[in-house]
Amino acid sequence: KNRVYRFGNKIADGSSKMRNLLGGKGANLAEMSAIGIPVPPGFTITTEVCTEYNLLGRDAVVDLIKDEVEDAITTIESLMAAKFGDKDNPLLVSVRSGARVSMPGMMDTVLNLGMNDEVVLGLAKKTNNEQFAWDSYRRFIQMYGGVVLGMKPESKDDIDPFEEIMEHLKEKRGIQLDTEFTIQDLKDLVYDFKDAVKKRTGHDFPTNPWEQLWGAIMAVFNSWNGDRAVYYRNMHGYPADWGTAVNVQAMVYGNMGNNSGTGVCFTRDAGTGENKFNGEYLINAQGEDVVAGVRTPQQITKIGSERWAELAKIDEVERIANYPSLEELMPDIFDELNGYQQILENHYRDMQDMEFTIQDGKLWILQTRNGKRTGAAMVKIAMDLLKEGLITEQEALLQIEPNKLDELLHPVFDPSALKRANVIAQGLPASPGAATGKIVFFADEASKYKSSILVRIETSPEDLEGMNIAKGILTARGGMTSHAAVVARGMGKCCISGAGALKINYKTRTLKVGDHEYHEGDWISLNGSTGNIIEGKVATVEPELSGEFGELMALSDKYAIMKVRTNADTPKDARIARNFGADGIGLTRTEHMFFELDRIKAMREMILADTLKERKQALEDLLPMQRADFEGIFEAMEGKSVTIRLLDPPLHEFVPHQLATQKELAAQMHIPLQAVKNKVAELEEFNPMLGHRGCRLGNTYPEITEMQTRAIIEAALNLKERGVICKPEIMVPLIGTVKEFLYQEEIIRNTAKAIFKERNDSIAYLVGTMIEIPRAALMADRIAEHADFFSFGTNDLTQMTFGYSRDDASKFLPVYIDKGILQVDPFEVLDQEGVGQLIKVGTERGRSTKPNLKVGICGEHGGEPSSVEFCYRTGMDYVSCSPYRVPIARLVSAQAAI
Ligand code: PEP
Ligand code: MG
Repeated sequence: KNRVYRFGNKIADGSSKMRNLLGGKGANLAEMSAIGIPVPPGFTITTEVCTEYNLLGRDAVVDLIKDEVEDAITTIESLMAAKFGDKDNPLLVSVRSGARVSMPGMMDTVLNLGMNDEVVLGLAKKTNNEQFAWDSYRRFIQMYGGVVLGMKPESKDDIDPFEEIMEHLKEKRGIQLDTEFTIQDLKDLVYDFKDAVKKRTGHDFPTNPWEQLWGAIMAVFNSWNGDRAVYYRNMHGYPADWGTAVNVQAMVYGNMGNNSGTGVCFTRDAGTGENKFNGEYLINAQGEDVVAGVRTPQQITKIGSERWAELAKIDEVERIANYPSLEELMPDIFDELNGYQQILENHYRDMQDMEFTIQDGKLWILQTRNGKRTGAAMVKIAMDLLKEGLITEQEALLQIEPNKLDELLHPVFDPSALKRANVIAQGLPASPGAATGKIVFFADEASKYKSSILVRIETSPEDLEGMNIAKGILTARGGMTSHAAVVARGMGKCCISGAGALKINYKTRTLKVGDHEYHEGDWISLNGSTGNIIEGKVATVEPELSGEFGELMALSDKYAIMKVRTNADTPKDARIARNFGADGIGLTRTEHMFFELDRIKAMREMILADTLKERKQALEDLLPMQRADFEGIFEAMEGKSVTIRLLDPPLHEFVPHQLATQKELAAQMHIPLQAVKNKVAELEEFNPMLGHRGCRLGNTYPEITEMQTRAIIEAALNLKERGVICKPEIMVPLIGTVKEFLYQEEIIRNTAKAIFKERNDSIAYLVGTMIEIPRAALMADRIAEHADFFSFGTNDLTQMTFGYSRDDASKFLPVYIDKGILQVDPFEVLDQEGVGQLIKVGTERGRSTKPNLKVGICGEHGGEPSSVEFCYRTGMDYVSCSPYRVPIARLVSAQAAI
């Protein structure tokens, strides 16, 4: 089998279909080369080799791939007419990671590899540019030292050991910028760098290019298991055995003078989705300079008058005007690049994120990939590509990443609050959204406040975890393609970058704008869509499903077969869910209604009652409150089915456990404290989740079921009188035996009958049950003979199938996931293999006795994409999820049906 795949000169061994084997980058390089895009020649070592490396170690892997790698280097040599390690005509290469999914900045890269004291002279002669050659050498030692030899800062407060040497020299020479180094300075740096390596590692810096190459290849493999990569993988649920490929490619240089440059571009706007070719570049620079955000880059396309007006507002005109766009500076190169971006977008039929380098007037495309984008851009781009005829309706739906819709479902700044807002500065609108929080200056302190805004001069991959925790990210440096911007867009996190007016001081933990100073812990707000930085806290409002998002949802409904309902306990939640397109309610948990002030009192009276008479009296007090709740919910869901579940939690959850509140209750009810204490002790259970709850309550205290049924049916009849259509479904929780259901059903039906008679009116209603105890799933055929519908309560079903307490599992689940005993938290992602069997069996058996039995799910899993997909495959009629997940479930329902 091949372990090395070559590409270049418009041919390739691989293709974009081989992404799992070649990694995203390798597959795309092969594909680009094959369709005639000028990529620097190179080769890809497969992801399988990474796995072999983890298993067998370095020496065995070198043996396995040595011949193939040597052959492939020879091919590059002939295509570039240069020789690896040659002192007159040297070929230098880059070594980069490339997993099957893009993990920006997560793994390591080495550039300018193949350099040593002789090669640098050859390169200087060949390019007629001594400055460039020595600068490349200095960069190589720095990168190789950091990535391969472990020359990194020793602690958070330390600076990079190489940067430290450079800072010293700058101080000594009285200069500010890297570009001010003389050739002699660079030579000194190379000498000092090598010296530092020897001192810290005890070994000389390797001079043999082959030794360098193998070192870098292994370092890339190692970086797959580095902290950053592992964190990123875990965050996204990517398994460890995917591995990374290694791409070795001829170096091309953007830093060979003013006829060279490098940049990043997007075929569409990654923040808004607008169909506008855009990007940034730097003249006389290497790729890292653009993404690192150290120099603020120039635009690819001419800046329009609108943008000039915006720049004028923030005093940026003068600075930007010194740096013309690529379109103005190198029109021919721009035209060529513009041509390629169109070819690539048409070829991949998705928005592309490309990197390019101009070496001495020749354009090279270094990579292309489907661009990371915000949720809003994702939706707009898919709908636009559909309208442009580039993709089909089905493809548009499948292009949407369900969880990313979440970004569009969260509150946005209240327009009226924005009018009053005090905008203190403006930066680039790097990733849209509305974020409010307290200022923190260090990523590892992001969790210091409940809501924090991470404020940095610039960010680096080390900051990833903190960026994820923070509500928003603000940087003083860096463009739209800086690390902060790219990562934030990938996370869907609000980000403003390159806000040049900010003076950040890490030491004093202050942020200065003009003569105003802000401190750690001060509130600020970021509007990631405009780049506005606002003082203090700004109020937010609910978002709307309008524009392209509305179109997407309509398209989803066209393809979806399985319906989506919501879990809602209040009219407010019901209304939010309805706005998001919920087709009814799949679960109203009635218990939450009892916690409000006046109700908890009546509820406690009911629980503390010693006699049936007292209990009935207390329930009588609760009845009108419940009825009013239900009327509100029915009204919000007019015309749609509403499933209301009878009381479920153990009664002890409603009684006070602290002495002070117990005293209060005793006084309120005019009973001795001891009576309260006794009742609390009596309700105490060893395993409350397996105790006196669910239908066991209704079966021991039938009057509770009676009261709740009365509240539901009377509410429905009241609305009917007002001409509001409602479709009540009464749901019995936690049954395990047929009789448990039958007892409850009888109470419900008798109560309803009595009310119909009292009022001389009636209404259609269903009586169904939750299936959340394994025994119920197994007995489903018998239960379905009586129940009108099933709703799988996968929270309890997961708890009881695994035997993991819902309330205590967090103590060991993280360890289980860490150790790989479990892949994911089964309370979050449905365990299709195990718990899923019970759902399948339950559905099949239920329908064996009642073929048109209505089946749904109302556990937390009803809004989790992979679980929703499973529910569709199992033949459910609907899923029910929290209001904010409704659009996500609607989309997945459509995706599943395609
Ligand atoms: C369930 O168990 O899945 C369910 C929806 O009920 P609850 O979470 O209220 O126990
Ligand atoms: Mg339950």
